Amino acid sequence: MVKGKSEIKRGAVKLGIVGGTFNPIHLGHLRAAEEIREELRLDEVLFIPSNIPPHRPLESLVPFFHRYQMVKMATVDNPYFAVSGIEGKRPGKSYTIDTLKALYPEYPNAVFYFIIGLDAFLEINTWKKPQELFKLTHFVVIPRKGFGKKQILHAVKTVYPHLNVKMQQDIIQMPHGKNIHFCPISSLDISATQIRNLVKANKSIRYLVPRAVEEYIYQNGFYRGDDETKD
Ligand code: ATP
Repeated sequence: MVKGKSEIKRGAVKLGIVGGTFNPIHLGHLRAAEEIREELRLDEVLFIPSNIPPHRPLESLVPFFHRYQMVKMATVDNPYFAVSGIEGKRPGKSYTIDTLKALYPEYPNAVFYFIIGLDAFLEINTWKKPQELFKLTHFVVIPRKGFGKKQILHAVKTVYPHLNVKMQQDIIQMPHGKNIHFCPISSLDISATQIRNLVKANKSIRYLVPRAVEEYIYQNGFYRGDDETKD
């Protein structure tokens, strides 16, 4: 049964968190979140668009407000999904560690599950205070095309070079009681870069993003002038 928002904020719940640029949000993000929610029996999945992503070029980034709006319209019909504008309220780069610390008072009894693509997880050593992050939240790593699950261990070792970590049944137990789960869900091969490039080339993005997001992109003229090469 779906819990009410106030119940989620008060009670002991499993809270999934998907951070991202969402430039724009697409069906790959949504399907992954839904599969992980079912698999791990999460009570809620909170999407958190980043305001100023620390590791991304800003040229093709549409303003936070519009990315937030697109995430809202993409998630509104799923009672388990919610959106947080928390990173839009903070000046400067949007570091996940600061976001999780700010979320704690809002969800005092929640156990956090930070859902992240394998591509993004491999850069975890470049994030602010990664060791602290591993104390605050479980990680749920999902497959991305071109990346293998063995790379997860390497990424952990870049943060804890002296730790003897092992993956057993797709789980790595971390020193402070949190886990890293690898969840082999059916990742859809869609990226926001692909969507931006399609719009720029005047090609259809139908069935890659929710219909409302597609219309919002056209109405606002986003991504027409991008100069993107990443596949
Ligand atoms: P870009 O193409 O601009 O780099 P993106 O499509 O990778 O964007 P982000 O907003 O950067 O989207 O991603 C947010 C999170 O969602 C990251 O952890 C990323 O790995 C994950 N993710 C992105 N696309 C997919 C997908 N198709 N399936 C599962 N996870 C995804």
